[in-house]
Amino acid sequence: MQFCLNARPSRRRISTLLRLATLVVAAPLAGHAAAPAHGQPTQMSGVVTQIVLDDFANQTSRVEYHLDDAQSHRHATLHFDGAPPEGLRTGAPWSVSGVAGGDGSIQLSADSASVQTQAATQTMQSATTQSTAAAVVSGVQNTIVIIANFTNAAVTSTPSQIQNIMFSDPAGHSIDAMFRETSFGNVGFSGQVAGPFVINVSTASACNLAGWADAADAAATASGVNISSYPRRLYVMPTTEMSVCGMQGAGQVGGSPSRAWVFDYTVSDVYAHELGHNLNMAHASTPASEYGDVSDDMAASGYPLRHFNAPHMEQMGWMPAGNIRTITTSGTYTVAALELSPAQAPAPQILKILKTDTGEFYYLSYRAPLGLDSGLLTGYFNRVHVHKYAGNYIAYDTYRLALLDDAGVFSDATNGITVTQVSHASDRATVQVQIGGTPTCQRATPVLALSPSSQNAAAGSKLSYAVSLTNKDNAYCAASNFSLAGVVPSGWAGSVSAPTLSLAPGATGSATLSVTSAATAAAATYSATLNVSDPANSSHAVSGSMAYVVQAAACTRSAPAIAFTPTSRSGSAGSSQSYTVSITNKDSNSCSASTLSLGKVIPSGWSASLSPATVSLSPGATSSATLIVTSASNAAASTYTVQVNTTDSATPAHGASGSASDVVVQGDTQAPSVPTALTASVSKRTNVSLTWQAAIDNVGVAGYEIWRNGVRVATTASRNYAEVLTGGTYTYYVVAYDAAGNRSGPGNSVSLTIKAR
Ligand SMILES: [Zn+2]
Repeated sequence: MQFCLNARPSRRRISTLLRLATLVVAAPLAGHAAAPAHGQPTQMSGVVTQIVLDDFANQTSRVEYHLDDAQSHRHATLHFDGAPPEGLRTGAPWSVSGVAGGDGSIQLSADSASVQTQAATQTMQSATTQSTAAAVVSGVQNTIVIIANFTNAAVTSTPSQIQNIMFSDPAGHSIDAMFRETSFGNVGFSGQVAGPFVINVSTASACNLAGWADAADAAATASGVNISSYPRRLYVMPTTEMSVCGMQGAGQVGGSPSRAWVFDYTVSDVYAHELGHNLNMAHASTPASEYGDVSDDMAASGYPLRHFNAPHMEQMGWMPAGNIRTITTSGTYTVAALELSPAQAPAPQILKILKTDTGEFYYLSYRAPLGLDSGLLTGYFNRVHVHKYAGNYIAYDTYRLALLDDAGVFSDATNGITVTQVSHASDRATVQVQIGGTPTCQRATPVLALSPSSQNAAAGSKLSYAVSLTNKDNAYCAASNFSLAGVVPSGWAGSVSAPTLSLAPGATGSATLSVTSAATAAAATYSATLNVSDPANSSHAVSGSMAYVVQAAACTRSAPAIAFTPTSRSGSAGSSQSYTVSITNKDSNSCSASTLSLGKVIPSGWSASLSPATVSLSPGATSSATLIVTSASNAAASTYTVQVNTTDSATPAHGASGSASDVVVQGDTQAPSVPTALTASVSKRTNVSLTWQAAIDNVGVAGYEIWRNGVRVATTASRNYAEVLTGGTYTYYVVAYDAAGNRSGPGNSVSLTIKAR
């Protein structure tokens, strides 16, 4: 028989296993050019053990192969010159010829063409047994957990802490509880924690998983533990070995009894992962990352305990065959959540589609936040998971290829397979599966994303929101034109930078929604909406909203503005002038109203009135007062300043003043002309009569002063004057005056004599 080293995993897995199992490689004899210095030629027969060493921290694993001969108790680690044979698994009988290494290892050439068949019959029986009985991995797994300290390093977790992780977590998150839940009660873990023991190993020792486990077994046996009664054996060892050995845990893949090693012993899913290897599971991968499918415990560590993916559920035999449907024709299918009790599930929980080119299968499944899966990454929910897996029973890695949301498409052009998620509910999803033929266009609601969902700004500010729109039609639809329109509160302004986006299926376009709030908008949270529509496809309507938070701006107090109308008035001394004074509150809009007291400043000796005495003003508001100023009657002609000021005991910043000019102009300064033609007459011996010609004045003669013998004896507005005198000689003259008090010089004098009796 010929074994093809490059064979890929396939649906011919049983025959592959058989071909592998019949393989007995004979390594080159001593003298092989690649390894002459490794020692003597050696041969050995035994049973293979495969151990995966998990370096989660660096997202890489290594595989060790061991060969054990039960009869001679000889043990060897196998080193391959190149890749080991594909599909080499725990339990395979094998005879090897190679070169002995100094540490008991055997160096093998992987590309040897030499084949022997001595173990073929036994292995075929094993494979046959596996292909039928391995349908369900079941039963309570009796497990001994041995805490093994090194001479210079110790496990810091207590036995009871490790007991909780494995068997009895009070919160129900133990390894036992997880396996019971995810296997629908098929598998549990029970047992005991032994130790801690100190084994004769230090951190300076070379990494030796098997040797350390042997030493831990011996220590536990010496303390009275019957190791042979525990088919599952898990070793908890110091974390210092994580860096020394380059791994956080390791697990034998399949076989019984089995061994698992945990160095990162505070992390529950490391235990689950290594015990999963013991149950014969390989890694939950993605094409990009060996540990990338963290919907499964066989992936990266450090996540909450969770269920296993669809391929593993089938591999372990935990999903009843009746709940697994293999799809061979195009149609619409429902897949129920993987976590549901199979008896309760409303539809098959695993859909399989043959990948004809390789013999693998695609697995469609749906996950829901039920039980421990409540801790799954939210991105795993509401989406159909598409996995690829080689076969049912053999430990090949599973690959998650896609997570479909509604209208999401997985397609395999080579095999003519298209899977579209049509819709989903809390416990199921509906998919359209196309096998061969031409898939049809499936329109779907586009996905609208608005960012940020909320922004703050002062009233009147312009804010921009990024709009992202993804066409979720499947790949068989033509491009569509999506109309974008913004809706903003009344009195606000909104605009979209790209009112129309033309998008092919799967494409994402972007635009900007600009929103300007009203300057008068009160501090509050407002909503702006973006509506997407497509007259050609009603399923293309979607809308989203975002918050615009108008913030209360800081209040800034400022001096009010004071203005006079007019800014100047003039009048003669003693006259009154009226001014209108406007006062404007210059505080910022967010300030409360203020009451301003009004005061006046006028020249000394003047009088004034100001009304009202106070004004109450909101920010930006203006009010008026009236100032009436009366100048002093003796005010000299000049320009005077009159002032109005504001004060506010609550707000010193409200102190301000404004002013206007009050111009006092000079009065009548021109004297009347001199009165002329004064004549005097005497009658009845003592009666004196005076008459004169009128004086002339630029404004007007107010009257005349009558002067007799150098004394002013009377004033009169007339042009005559009479009086009765006694004997004597008298001399008169007359002076004219005007209203402003200007006086003329004396007019002509007249004299008369009155004889005494
Ligand atoms: Zn692993």
